[in-house]
Amino acid sequence: MKVACVGGGPAALYLSILLKRQDPSHDITVHERNPAGSTYGWGVTYWGGLLEKLRAGDPESADAISEHSVRWSDGVAHVGDRTTVHHGDEGHGIGRHRLLDILADRARSLGVRVEFESEITAAAQLPGADLIVAGDGVRSALRERHAGHFGPEVSIGRNKYIWLGTTKVFDSFTFAFVETAHGWIWCYGYRFSDEQSTCVVECSPETWTGLGLHEASEADGLALLERLFAGPLDGHRLIGRAKGDGSAQWLNFRTLTNRTWRRGNVVLLGDAAHTTHYSIGAGTTLALEDAIGLAGALRGSTDGPPDLGPALARYERERRSALLSVQSAARYSAQWYENLPRYIGLDPAQMFALLGQRHSPLLPHIPPQLYYRIDRAAEQLEPLRRMKRWLGPRVARTLHGRTGAPRG
Ligand SMILES: Cc1cc2nc3c(=O)[nH]c(=O)nc-3n(C[C@H](O)[C@H](O)[C@H](O)COP(=O)(O)OP(=O)(O)OC[C@H]3O[C@@H](n4cnc5c(N)ncnc54)[C@H](O)[C@@H]3O)c2cc1C
Repeated sequence: MKVACVGGGPAALYLSILLKRQDPSHDITVHERNPAGSTYGWGVTYWGGLLEKLRAGDPESADAISEHSVRWSDGVAHVGDRTTVHHGDEGHGIGRHRLLDILADRARSLGVRVEFESEITAAAQLPGADLIVAGDGVRSALRERHAGHFGPEVSIGRNKYIWLGTTKVFDSFTFAFVETAHGWIWCYGYRFSDEQSTCVVECSPETWTGLGLHEASEADGLALLERLFAGPLDGHRLIGRAKGDGSAQWLNFRTLTNRTWRRGNVVLLGDAAHTTHYSIGAGTTLALEDAIGLAGALRGSTDGPPDLGPALARYERERRSALLSVQSAARYSAQWYENLPRYIGLDPAQMFALLGQRHSPLLPHIPPQLYYRIDRAAEQLEPLRRMKRWLGPRVARTLHGRTGAPRG
């Protein structure tokens, strides 16, 4: 089968590895518009369960990812000058550059052609492909060209965020909330190597314009953020983008869904098909799981169309259903931050506990202190604990490690 994967992100690269392992006779090319070694973003988090899935799919790349990942086991929240620590929140981090290098090297070693500076915006550029995989991210050109068919819907988050790096190596997953004359601004920091950490900064649009971040140059904006977060950063620098990757932008998060994920022999994968708010740290994991799902559905499909239709339908059905609870968690998590004033004045231990419950559909409808008391009481009652586990095992697994919350 001749496969063209558009986009050299985690989703399409990993799919190319899995398909090549399933059948070395597949002819697979990955087209990435950027030059080799250039990408957006810094480190990404994931949880232990992902490594098991990756090991089942391709032990070599799983071992390399594990070897180049860092781990942490605590969560820390700084609210102004008060600090709360929660022990036992395990997580893993890896640099996005490193992850992509590992996947691209592995794909090449299996015989996949990885072509950089190869921008594809229409299926017509890929004559002869039996399968075209649109792994070209949230703004997928392949999808947008047939937007009437795919039916993308985008909901734009209210808050502004910027994805930065820093030389501060955080020991724990760190949340820092700082009050300014224009409202609260906060960051999530986690290390992804022994030299650097990710630092995602977020605030309301009012705080953003009040602080002048909307008109500041990149250097002035970073200098202001370094001053505001000087405590948690221990005086370390913030970095916009790695050398050669352009400059970091303030954005509003785009939560994307699509009416369908396939059109003939074109199929959407990863962020091109769906996005989940970064505050649950799951997008890369979901993109890799999409690749596992698609490769599984295609196992045995060697003839290309018309054999592909049922396989693509199965992939879409299974992945959509697997995503439901995580998409819900991500929406509520994003809303929690948009409603920060509702929680920020609580006692620090309560605030940190509710930060860990931010994916709950009930929390927005119950006074926070009452919710906290009910949640604590539920912890004492075995039937309620069992119900919580039954209600949200997958959500809990997704969120562990970034919450600072006791596990339920
Ligand atoms: C602030 C922030 C923090 C995040 N933190 C985490 C985290 O901690 N953990 C986590 O799991 N996820 C995280 N994510 C989400 C994660 O980055 C994405 O979900 C993930 O990268 C999706 O992978 P993908 O392969 O689908 O798309 P992408 O990684 O976006 O890759 C798409 C690729 O396609 C290329 N491309 C685009 N158009 C074309 C074209 N026309 N032709 C050829 N190539 C093209 C792009 O250059 C890009 O390389 C975060 C996201 C944000 C915004």
